[in-house]
Amino acid sequence: MGSRGVNSSATATRLLKEKKWDALVIGAGHNGLIAATYLARGGLSVAVLERRHVIGGAAVTEELIPGFKFSRCSYLLSLLRPSIIKELELVRHGLKLLKPISQSFTPCLDGRYLLLGPDDEQNYLEMLKFSKRDADAYPRDFLDLLLSPTSKVLNKWFESDVVKATLAADAMIGSMASIHTPGSGYVLLHHVMGETDGEHNIWSHVEGGMGTVSLAISNAAKEAGVHIFTNAEVSKLVIEESGIVIGVLMVDGERLHSSIVLSNATPYKTFMELVPQIFLPDEFVRAIKYSDYSSGTTKINVAVDKLPQFQSCNLNHPEVGPHHTATIHIGSESMEEIGLACQDAWNGLPSRRPVMEMTIPSSLDKTISPPGKHVVSLFTQYTPYKPTDGSWEDPTYRELYAQRCFNLIDEYAPGFTSSVIGYDMLTPPDLEREFGLTGGNIFHGAMGLDSLFLMRPVKQWSDHRTPIRGLYMCGSGSHPGGGVMGAAGRNAAYVVLHDVKKHSR
Ligand SMILES: Cc1cc2nc3c(=O)[nH]c(=O)nc-3n(C[C@H](O)[C@H](O)[C@H](O)COP(=O)(O)OP(=O)(O)OC[C@H]3O[C@@H](n4cnc5c(N)ncnc54)[C@H](O)[C@@H]3O)c2cc1C
Repeated sequence: MGSRGVNSSATATRLLKEKKWDALVIGAGHNGLIAATYLARGGLSVAVLERRHVIGGAAVTEELIPGFKFSRCSYLLSLLRPSIIKELELVRHGLKLLKPISQSFTPCLDGRYLLLGPDDEQNYLEMLKFSKRDADAYPRDFLDLLLSPTSKVLNKWFESDVVKATLAADAMIGSMASIHTPGSGYVLLHHVMGETDGEHNIWSHVEGGMGTVSLAISNAAKEAGVHIFTNAEVSKLVIEESGIVIGVLMVDGERLHSSIVLSNATPYKTFMELVPQIFLPDEFVRAIKYSDYSSGTTKINVAVDKLPQFQSCNLNHPEVGPHHTATIHIGSESMEEIGLACQDAWNGLPSRRPVMEMTIPSSLDKTISPPGKHVVSLFTQYTPYKPTDGSWEDPTYRELYAQRCFNLIDEYAPGFTSSVIGYDMLTPPDLEREFGLTGGNIFHGAMGLDSLFLMRPVKQWSDHRTPIRGLYMCGSGSHPGGGVMGAAGRNAAYVVLHDVKKHSR
């Protein structure tokens, strides 16, 4: 049981049960692992308890088809705080970033394409193919986006459909919001604030897949003395009558002792399932219960026997071209197209023409697929949690949606469907069941303006503390939110260490 380097022996299990830990972390997502590392470095004895057989949460690599290693959920890295990479020495612990040659590729059915990369002059020429006005207007001050609907801002700045849609697609990631929703632009802002090796807004592939990020953090954690346990699911928090946490109850009935518990699970899972409600203020329970956990995302990880060839770009790259390394936008040639895809989901139907972000990590990473074959990641929207015209539990219905996505890719890259060897598909209920992501929301809760900053996860509780003394939140559902960023884990650890120091005086 357990993944590489994770405690799983009988001795380790005895250690887990008999020791009184200074701190327990529920969940070995990247944030839980980061929190644990900083706590151990601060002098605490720490155990991480992960319910799955593998660490990493949504930053994970799994070989589901022999020879093909899939980043099953997250697939690109940009947000991970540079301070964390440095302080935890993640490069020494195995993290290797693979920068794409181009960042964004939008093929069009009329034969044109928009390929954006690190070179401003080249980007200007690319935009010029669509509109001189847009080429002159790009790049912009994205701050306007914070409060306005994405469509309003982009319509004001740009005139070409393809340019607007390419930018709008990033604002819709992991959301059921429409491009016309006020504040919808925040998700776009969230996606452009990262970097790779000091280069702003570059999203990189990670050698070995996103699981390597978690593995590197877990190496740092173990070096700091953290014990990590897989197949270790917490069923309840144990709380004293006075409302102070004293440990956790595992699903196997074992009780573990600690006066500090950090939860890397979603706010919903933590407070609606793990904490007995009698210990929580009514107003707090209502705020958690009625937060927005919708997402509309279905991830399809595909093994193919050849690189997709895009007819529009005509770059004549039988092997890897710059566009293969980029984030490829399919089905979003105009904001109207994105709007229609969203409207379908609001009507209860999976989008008839899904909006897709396609990446081909094996275009740069030779460690994740057999020679000549490739891994294709499809981040698709919009798929309602409970569709009205069928059920995600029905294999035929599932197959239909996957086929719809593949057919749409065929329009741009003929022959894609016939290159498919096999695939893994995660609909919103699958993301919830398999990864514990409530409602399938990829960020542990929507990133709307009403659930950000001081409001995340709920008003008055954005500092990682909770109404239960000794219980802290350290995952993406807490400030500053989702993505493989690590800030929530690091900040939570500092809050805990501050409280420990204060109470030991
Ligand atoms: C399909 C998809 C694509 C994404 N793409 C990207 C991307 O490309 N780039 C990016 O930056 N972000 C992306 N994201 C978002 C990002 O992956 C998440 O926001 C982030 O990984 C969450 O990290 P976390 O540590 O906060 O929580 P998680 O990774 O969700 O970890 C929580 C852990 O807690 C465990 N757990 C829950 N309950 C219990 C329990 N009772 N007992 C023990 N363990 C428990 C879970 O099993 C899980 O391992 C994507 C997410 C998804 C789902």
